[in-house]
Amino acid sequence: MDLKKYIAEVKDWPKEGISFKDITTLMDNGEAYAYATDQIVNFAREKEIDIVVGPEARGFIIGCPVAYAMNIGFAPVRKEGKLPREVIRYEYDLEYGSNVLTMHKDAIKPGQRVLITDDLLATGGTIEATIQLIEQLGGIVAGIAFIIDLKYLNGMQKLEGYDVLTLVEYD
Ligand code: IMP
Repeated sequence: MDLKKYIAEVKDWPKEGISFKDITTLMDNGEAYAYATDQIVNFAREKEIDIVVGPEARGFIIGCPVAYAMNIGFAPVRKEGKLPREVIRYEYDLEYGSNVLTMHKDAIKPGQRVLITDDLLATGGTIEATIQLIEQLGGIVAGIAFIIDLKYLNGMQKLEGYDVLTLVEYD
């Protein structure tokens, strides 16, 4: 199935010069959403994944159906102040300013094999931070899956040494 057909490109959104890739048009098509999920489930089975982790909010949309299909758990990565119990935090630089991501301290058990999911790889900053959180907790990042790779932003360079699946690429 050619998944690119189901992704909407929105010119000059949220700012002029950006061509936003909108996956809501893929998700609201049952067959396309199931197909994309199945590709990630197959990858996760090969990697013998124990738990799925995704950053808010679109990482949940990709990761939760994968976790359900495999009968394994899902742990969220969220912005600071959103998770109610004890967290670990990781701060990283953005183009302007910085961002903090957090995870519950007990979300991952040492040695667990983790799949990270998100809708889209851009500069890789979000996923690099997610990797740091998982590894701080003793988890093994055994796979990373995205629907989309914006290849021209070179995020993949930050993920060297990890097994990465992407379903749709933009040059
Ligand atoms: P990165 O940290 O630069 O790799 O940015 C990735 C994050 O930004 C992901 O969580 C995406 O949801 C979001 N993002 C950046 N550009 C787009 C886009 O064109 N469409 C959808 N999400 C985007």
